[in-house]
Amino acid sequence: MSVNRREFFIQTAVAGAAVAAGAGAMVGSRARAAEGEGEVVLKLSSQEGIIPGRDLKEKLANMEKWGFEGIEFWGDANRTKQIREALAGSKIKVSAICAGYGGCLMSEDESKRKQAFDDIKKILVMAGELKSTGLIVVPAFNNQMKLSFLEGQKLLAQQLPELGDWAAKNGTRILLEPLNKGEAMFLRQLAVAACLCRALDNPGIAMMGDFYHMNLEEKDDYHAFLDAGTYLHHVHLASRERNLPGQDDRSFVNGFRGLKKIGYRDYCSLECGVKGDKMVEIPKAVEFLRRQWEEAKP
Ligand code: MG
Repeated sequence: MSVNRREFFIQTAVAGAAVAAGAGAMVGSRARAAEGEGEVVLKLSSQEGIIPGRDLKEKLANMEKWGFEGIEFWGDANRTKQIREALAGSKIKVSAICAGYGGCLMSEDESKRKQAFDDIKKILVMAGELKSTGLIVVPAFNNQMKLSFLEGQKLLAQQLPELGDWAAKNGTRILLEPLNKGEAMFLRQLAVAACLCRALDNPGIAMMGDFYHMNLEEKDDYHAFLDAGTYLHHVHLASRERNLPGQDDRSFVNGFRGLKKIGYRDYCSLECGVKGDKMVEIPKAVEFLRRQWEEAKP
């Protein structure tokens, strides 16, 4: 597809999806046949910083004890060897790599775009070596973007295909993350991210959903995940107040119904604060999430 044609598709996709999602209509890929065989299971992960422990080895031991299967790291290519060695003696696998790059793909400043582009390529190598499902990328936070939506989209359309090819070559993906409008106006709903993925049509470009942001931006979790369909390759878990699941009234049942319906096979990873003693509260959250998963009937 030529760049101009791709830009057109992306602009149409974002505008169309924004209107449709705003009106409550369901767009995107909807539920698709599950990838792989067998029952869909809840694979829990956490960002490294949330888990207590003197070092990575002790954190991994705690995670194994509590029933986690994955761990999410901040993007830092210098840690690849250290992480690989620590994981060699553990059952825990890398779920995703979170950001870690400088600059911004949608900045009006060419040097900032180049910094983001080059950094993302380096961290994608780390993500591939650690067999991560992908690298989480926010196209632009509100304070990073001075351009109009259309100008920003044009820049994204110019850069994402090459980054997607690079990700796929390294055996991983870019995971576009929608955030709430207070943080990132450009991309705030799963249906819009799914439309971007479809327009780009690149195996290295996928997306994720975050229960905290979804609570602020989606009409309901179930349909948001159906809209994401097979483009969805990572999920962040946090309560309404962005603490551990179970520490306020936020329910995950409707979202988990959606994940079961689309045959989701990747991880659900904690990205949240913790009220109270982590050694007590994190196992409680794991138990709470397992109960909510059981309650979720697709
Ligand atoms: Mg998140």
